[in-house]
Amino acid sequence: MRQVAIYGKGGIGKSTTTQNLTAGLIELGKQVMIVGCDPKGDSTRLLLNGLAQKTVLDTLRGVGENIPLDSILKVGYKGTRCVESGGPEPGVGCAGRGIITAIGLLERLGAYTEDLDYVFYDVLGDVVCGGFAMPIREGKAKEIYIVASGEMMALYAANNIAKGIQRYARKGGVRLGGIICNSRNVDRENELLRAFAKELSSQLIYDVPRHNIVQHAEIRRKTVIEYQPESSQAKEYRQLARAIDENTHFVIPTPMTQDRLEEILLEFGLLDNLEEYEI
Ligand code: ADP
Ligand code: MG
Repeated sequence: MRQVAIYGKGGIGKSTTTQNLTAGLIELGKQVMIVGCDPKGDSTRLLLNGLAQKTVLDTLRGVGENIPLDSILKVGYKGTRCVESGGPEPGVGCAGRGIITAIGLLERLGAYTEDLDYVFYDVLGDVVCGGFAMPIREGKAKEIYIVASGEMMALYAANNIAKGIQRYARKGGVRLGGIICNSRNVDRENELLRAFAKELSSQLIYDVPRHNIVQHAEIRRKTVIEYQPESSQAKEYRQLARAIDENTHFVIPTPMTQDRLEEILLEFGLLDNLEEYEI
């Protein structure tokens, strides 16, 4: 069983990419569980066709710990197992608490069955601290992918995440498997992401194009693979699934200083436009 955490800045496309990637893995005959680790609770929406999934924390609030597994784990698209850990209201309490509670409960209820090939943790945020680091801190997820784009804040967040991973990697077995580019159509984005990943001693494992079909599928509460299996974007997600399934490049990341990050951005012309606008 490969336990994989997906990190990246909010809104970068973690949940969309994870669910589409999961649909791709299903086609490869894999058994997959997704554990949503975002208080938004939207990590499994596309696989459940919008079925409102009660979060683990909400379920516990209602009935306490004595609950059947199927009250927190719903079966979605082609047998994918879907869990939303949930979290407190914004600004109240530790947002990582839901993740800790959910993983503990899933273990006690026997959700980590031997037939599972993959467990994905779709983790909110650009800082790997406290509860958000839980999947990697406790050695649950050994493999991490960071979703990023060529935008400065996405790379800034990705570098910070790499710093967090480095800390845990030195102590335990957690490794960075690569950077997934979810394109924002920034100039020379692919080259920039390659250079960025290389600087981290990692790799750009896949470059997912930006395409409106993602939104068309989303509004219908489906992955692109379910909505338009023959589309070019569905093929991209299948290739991403294959790249991850065949990945053998796992490293302790070597994050860079802010200066070095900005140097790389300058090198690839990302800041050129800013200068133009300042005139
Ligand atoms: P996150 O989970 O990182 O917060 P989401 O997966 O919810 O981000 O994605 C944010 C938005 O970006 C969604 O509305 C989604 O439809 C859109 N999106 C994600 N990936 C793509 C893509 N490759 N092409 C077009 N839109 C995308
Ligand atoms: Mg999300």
